[in-house]
Amino acid sequence: MTEENLQNKTDVIVVGAGPAGVSAAITVARGGKNVILVERAPFAGAKNMYGGVIYTHAAKEIFPNFEEAPIERYIAKHSYVLLSEKDSTQISYKNPEHEKKAFVAIRAKWDKWCVEQAMKEGVYFAPNTLVRELIVKEGKVCGIKTDIEEYYADIVIVADGVNSLLAKQIGLRKNIKPKNVALGVKEVIKLSKEAINKRFALEDDKGCAMEIAGEPLKNMLAMGIVYTNKDSVALGIGVSLEDLKKQKMKPYELLDKLKEHPFVADLIEGGELVEYSAHLIPEGGYNAIPELYTDGAMITGDAAGLVNNVHFEGTNLAMMSGKLAGETALAAFEHNDFSSNMLCLYAKKLENSFVLKDMKTYKDVVHLLSGRCSSFLNYYPDNINKFFNIFTCADGEPKKQKFQKFTKDFFVKRSLSELFKDAIAGIKIIFGILK
Ligand SMILES: Cc1cc2nc3c(=O)[nH]c(=O)nc-3n(C[C@H](O)[C@H](O)[C@H](O)COP(=O)(O)OP(=O)(O)OC[C@H]3O[C@@H](n4cnc5c(N)ncnc54)[C@H](O)[C@@H]3O)c2cc1C
Repeated sequence: MTEENLQNKTDVIVVGAGPAGVSAAITVARGGKNVILVERAPFAGAKNMYGGVIYTHAAKEIFPNFEEAPIERYIAKHSYVLLSEKDSTQISYKNPEHEKKAFVAIRAKWDKWCVEQAMKEGVYFAPNTLVRELIVKEGKVCGIKTDIEEYYADIVIVADGVNSLLAKQIGLRKNIKPKNVALGVKEVIKLSKEAINKRFALEDDKGCAMEIAGEPLKNMLAMGIVYTNKDSVALGIGVSLEDLKKQKMKPYELLDKLKEHPFVADLIEGGELVEYSAHLIPEGGYNAIPELYTDGAMITGDAAGLVNNVHFEGTNLAMMSGKLAGETALAAFEHNDFSSNMLCLYAKKLENSFVLKDMKTYKDVVHLLSGRCSSFLNYYPDNINKFFNIFTCADGEPKKQKFQKFTKDFFVKRSLSELFKDAIAGIKIIFGILK
């Protein structure tokens, strides 16, 4: 390295100030090493969108003072809703001891707060800085190139999100296939706190996380979400890019269909649309996780495809992978070894954590569901609604007659071979999870 380059050198550079990047940077700073956190946006969170839920276990591990953060509402109620054309069946889970396990936060505020904490602990933050490429010399990643300068480090932690151009540049990742990615679109709808509490049956500052499947998102691997902020609700969908292409649908058309359903329409009635955003979500699961490290670099969070779609978890996997990459960087300094031989520790740490354990547990679920989504996300939700329609209706017609018709329709409208395939997929999902 030349004299000039030595002036432009630090211990660790982290690219991307989302949950993965900030967790990596703060871990390195806590270990006493110099770290620069580089972000293309004017402030952390400015360009970031997600559904809205942060998990307390991860937040607490990185930020023990997380309760001082700009939190919208703690999740006191989890609701799961199945929609047919006009009907809806809702199951809700509540437990007072469970109330502080997750909370809703707005990324523009949360990410900014996280970076402020990191700066207090010695992280140097460089906003408005787009990393164009990684500098690779003799096969080893040793820095970053921005529009105005080159900067060097012993280790670069790549946390630049789902479409990581940097991981692609160094050969750790290939282009994402449409089947391995979902598109999330979200509206934020302003409503009074009183209206939210009444419509979601909440008290005070308690919040609700709602997941929705069924008719408006027909025949696609797609789910809806509604999360309550203080005085607005986030309403969105996540849909497989491949299914959108196949069905020739536009994402906002799907979201509009969801908003028109009577169940959802009642929740947002009279609300004012204040924000619209879209973002990709890694959907490939365990089987699509790329190589996680190379000489001089590690990739974390969405850049490494670390999302648990079954449980709508991404921020916690991002934060933990960032922390483990940070710890690995510190171990590399102890041994003065920044090669793959040392950085493989990062993959081992991930394997031993809930991050890869959970992803392994669900490794085939999305694939099996995507083959049977017209059944699991439409046919059965529709029949559950039909069942409750009969069960809850007293209209003078004998119940036996109605249930006989329901059972006949159930088997006539779905061939035995389709039912058999659903049963096999269901068994494979259950055995896959338990084995
Ligand atoms: C619609 C939707 C809903 C979701 N809902 C939830 C939820 O409710 N709960 C949950 O836990 N997860 C959710 N997720 C997933 C979660 O948002 C991600 O898993 C998480 O944000 C990943 O964090 P990250 O730090 O890896 O990436 P990101 O949050 O994407 O951060 C990457 C950062 O890198 C910066 N960057 C990118 N390229 C460069 C570059 N070249 N130079 C400099 N900076 C760069 C970006 O500006 C950004 O700040 C959702 C995702 C979507 C899209």
